[in-house]
Amino acid sequence: MAKISKGSLTVEQARTLPKIVLHEHYDCSIAPDHVLGVGTARGFNVPDQFKKLWLEAGNDSLKRAFAAAEYQKWLNAHASESLTNYLEILWDQVLPTLQTQDDLYTTCKQRIDAAVEDGMIFLKLRFAPQLHRREGLKLQQVIDPLQQAVSEAPFPVRLVICALRHENGRLGRHLADAVIRNPMVSTFDLAGDESKFPGVLPWWAKQAKRVVAAGKQCSCHIGEAKPITDADHDALDAIGCTELGHGVQGDPRNKLCTVCFTSNLVTHVAASAERHPIDRMYRDGRKVSIDLDGTLLTGTTASDEYVLLNQTFGWGAQEFLRCNLNALEHVPLRHAEVRKLKRRLEDVYGRL
Ligand SMILES: [Zn+2]
Repeated sequence: MAKISKGSLTVEQARTLPKIVLHEHYDCSIAPDHVLGVGTARGFNVPDQFKKLWLEAGNDSLKRAFAAAEYQKWLNAHASESLTNYLEILWDQVLPTLQTQDDLYTTCKQRIDAAVEDGMIFLKLRFAPQLHRREGLKLQQVIDPLQQAVSEAPFPVRLVICALRHENGRLGRHLADAVIRNPMVSTFDLAGDESKFPGVLPWWAKQAKRVVAAGKQCSCHIGEAKPITDADHDALDAIGCTELGHGVQGDPRNKLCTVCFTSNLVTHVAASAERHPIDRMYRDGRKVSIDLDGTLLTGTTASDEYVLLNQTFGWGAQEFLRCNLNALEHVPLRHAEVRKLKRRLEDVYGRL
């Protein structure tokens, strides 16, 4: 590949670039044909026009792909109107289709296959197992199929369990226990609506501390909608949490910010691509990585994010390598495996 000048990177080229992704939600990265197909077959809340398209497509794969693409366009448009819509889509359209062990396993396998095509060489896939109990599964029964799918992946993938801000310490304790006892779960995270539930770190931090003491990691969604307070910073420092989900509102203590460019545009955290803070953060020497949040409601991929960064800010080999090396510091693998990933990154980006 010739030197990457501004606007020159194509999606096909971007797919060949090795990528470490730390921040991606499993339930926000489901293939649209699964949500539409299962939603239609089981009579969930899929709008009638898309149910009709899907049923008319029958077994015709081209027509099915068209129906799924139309449905995803609608999901993206609806989700981008407001955070309320975004969460509503997740709750009403997506989560109902992810309540059986078969569906959990199959969709996770599909996601991993797509991640390979996207050039990922390491992926942390996060989920909140408590959201998959509508048909009676227990927490461990939710984790098992995902753990199985991840253990069969052709590249290293680890799971992250998310507690949610509106929850409490009792559930947090069960989730932390699940992180500690499951070998393919590397990390305990706090996610959820930061604007509606600020200042709730103490109950989560207490459990995160146990997770860290057991040799696992923690990360925290924070600094997405509002700046991080000193109290929250202190709580994170006390447990050694150095990986922030987003952090785009400013992080004076320079932890790793897993930045999700398109997601921030969809949820109106940034007014436009040009005004997104990632380039300024990078130039100021902040630790940033290029992340996804998800693919379904944003219509993006990791390769699309690289193209967008190239088009908007002229990012090329140097910036992509730096961001991947930043992410590599938080990859929960053995030293030898981390060194192998580092060599691959330096080799590929060094040749560009
Ligand atoms: Zn997230």
